[in-house]
Amino acid sequence: MSLRVAQGRDQPAADASVGADSASQGARDLPDLVRAMLTALGEDPTREGLRRTPERVGKSLEWLTRGYRQSVADVVGDGVFEGKHESMVVVRDIEVYSLCEHHMLPFFGRAHIAYYPNGRIIGLSKIPRVLDVFARRLQVQERLTDQVADALVDVLEPVGVGVVIEAYHLCMMMRGVQKQNSKTVTSALRGLFRDDAKARDEFLRLAHGGRWLD
Ligand SMILES: [Zn+2]
Repeated sequence: MSLRVAQGRDQPAADASVGADSASQGARDLPDLVRAMLTALGEDPTREGLRRTPERVGKSLEWLTRGYRQSVADVVGDGVFEGKHESMVVVRDIEVYSLCEHHMLPFFGRAHIAYYPNGRIIGLSKIPRVLDVFARRLQVQERLTDQVADALVDVLEPVGVGVVIEAYHLCMMMRGVQKQNSKTVTSALRGLFRDDAKARDEFLRLAHGGRWLD
């Protein structure tokens, strides 16, 4: 898989003076920023236990946001085929890990993704990778759900796409309101799944056993 600096409507324009190395240049600055943050928090970044922390956090953050340097085309590759399959395809219980853009704290849970093909099918292993292109960025759950649905519409031009994400947000669980058992459920329905109640109900039942509809 080739990495590249993502360009598109959700990316700032590349600074010509920095060029394609901007991501790795930014990553080199992260340890210094983490060191400054540790100091601001009242810590001593030179003490034994923290000595290598700035480098670790920098690497970790770069990895957790690697979706900025990937595109859907990169991860799908040649994984789309002509095919006559004419019923719903559902991949459920896909693990999802992301970072909320308001607090840069994790939110995590499961995604259920379905599409109803229109002559094109996608390798099933590609669907979680499309999800990760968007999950491995700073996100809000609603936008993540929409972006995955729209990406699959672009790639597959299907009859319909449905995406449900149910997630726990550490920014709600660890701080603020400390609502430790509240799960956020978002859905994005396109085409048939939006327009046809029967198809929508079938998807939501398969995706979620109807539990969250209670
Ligand atoms: Zn948050």
